[in-house]
Amino acid sequence: MNIILLGPPGAGKGTQAKRLEVEKGMVQLSTGDMLRSAVASGSSLGREAQAVMDAGNLVEDAVMVGIIADRISHPDCAKGFTLDGFPRTTAQAEALDRMLTEKGLKLNAVIELKVDQNALFDRIRGRASEAGAGSERADDNVGILKKRLEVYHGQTAPIIPYYKKKGLLHEVNGMQEIKGVAQAIDAILAQAADKGSQPC
Ligand code: AMP
Repeated sequence: MNIILLGPPGAGKGTQAKRLEVEKGMVQLSTGDMLRSAVASGSSLGREAQAVMDAGNLVEDAVMVGIIADRISHPDCAKGFTLDGFPRTTAQAEALDRMLTEKGLKLNAVIELKVDQNALFDRIRGRASEAGAGSERADDNVGILKKRLEVYHGQTAPIIPYYKKKGLLHEVNGMQEIKGVAQAIDAILAQAADKGSQPC
């Protein structure tokens, strides 16, 4: 089963992708994690990506497509994967289609985690005050989240109709408890598996 988890930053994509890896062996392909390890390793990609990430902007499409094309070719991905944080633009979605076709792979589902934007801000403010952080730090976090949400609505959300047209899109209420989100995702995967096993 190959799926995409879509949703704004803080929607819970990473939590669910990790769970699917543990429970179902679907490899989590998190482009954010890949970039963060490039930053930690001090590679040239990491050095270039860091400023872009810190500002809440997107790393160039060609770079991201190259990273995913390479990762998807690893043998472990044959067991199935969850794309977490990719694609984030229409160009990335189109490039993904081409690379999957070339590799004889297909997407089984695209799952959008829908969350209330105000709740995301409350969460981040709550975390900052719990940690006793100064207001400057909290403002920084809120400012970056605002930017990342703007980027999500401007550049990533427009790919939702692209997948809707393909009949792949499913919506899940991301405001439920983690367990409820997990159950909703599992039901979609079960349905997609049934569909995949039916003769055309
Ligand atoms: P994430 O952990 O998925 O929220 O990603 C953290 C940051 O990495 C993002 O804010 C972007 O700067 C960058 N990033 C991750 N995935 C992508 C992508 N598919 N395209 C462009 N930039 C990305």
